[in-house]
Amino acid sequence: MYLCALFNVCCLLLLVACYSCDSLVNYIGFVKNLPLPITNKFAYLGSTLSNSVSIDDEINNRIAKASAAFGRLRKTVWNRRGITLETKMKVYRAVVLPTLLYGCETWTVYSRHARKLNHFHTTRLRSIMNIKWHQRIPDTAVLTRAMTTSIHTMLMKHQARWAGHIVRMEDDRIPKRLFYGELSEGKRSQGGQKKRYKDSLKVSLKTLQIDTSTWENAAMDRSKWRSGLSIGATAAEKRRMAEAEEKRCKRKDFTTSNPPNTPLHMCPICKRLFQARIGLISHRRTHRNLT
Ligand SMILES: [Zn+2]
Repeated sequence: MYLCALFNVCCLLLLVACYSCDSLVNYIGFVKNLPLPITNKFAYLGSTLSNSVSIDDEINNRIAKASAAFGRLRKTVWNRRGITLETKMKVYRAVVLPTLLYGCETWTVYSRHARKLNHFHTTRLRSIMNIKWHQRIPDTAVLTRAMTTSIHTMLMKHQARWAGHIVRMEDDRIPKRLFYGELSEGKRSQGGQKKRYKDSLKVSLKTLQIDTSTWENAAMDRSKWRSGLSIGATAAEKRRMAEAEEKRCKRKDFTTSNPPNTPLHMCPICKRLFQARIGLISHRRTHRNLT
């Protein structure tokens, strides 16, 4: 119900935005004899809608709200010694995560958004488990210890589940009409195009190892779709973990084979040592100036 309304208002907002560009009207109507001004963003049913069609404001807003929800439980839950980690995680999953990801099914997520949300997620988990930065525990270990997944996987799963709901809807429902709707006119802008909901969904489905050409048929069977998503999400999270681990190992190998304190490059003129080649190159310019 809420999502239908959200889609509705999105369309309305876009209309208002277009209207406001063409004319010098700075209010759209009156409420109790007071002018209703045109704004670039406003909150509707808890979500921030913006005329830039980007979710930057919404992400910041969600993080602020989830942060407040987390802070309110600090004394009573997170810092309490008698409560097990399992119970704390149950509270986190019931209170903080829904606040953070409220309405995320409809977002067109760029990687910067997912990274920002995931950073919030992992720092709060560290705080719950009292892990300090100097202990040097990687995010993958934090997630495993907390028995949860990264925000990236959660977002993909939520989005794919919502897409399944849309596909199973009656054809005249607004979300479905909007989902399959296309612009009848307008031109592509120079350079990169803005990401569409479809693009975001396609990436999610691919990562969840669902065939993007036949996914609509697969989604018609609700229980099958649901279990398919769970399996895909588990596999995606495992791959993510393995990739992160591999990246970390590579980085570690590099730092051990090239300890930061061993200079590698020597100036042939004054025998001065440099860690990086670029340092030597810029240094040799000083000799050129002298001659
Ligand atoms: Zn030199």
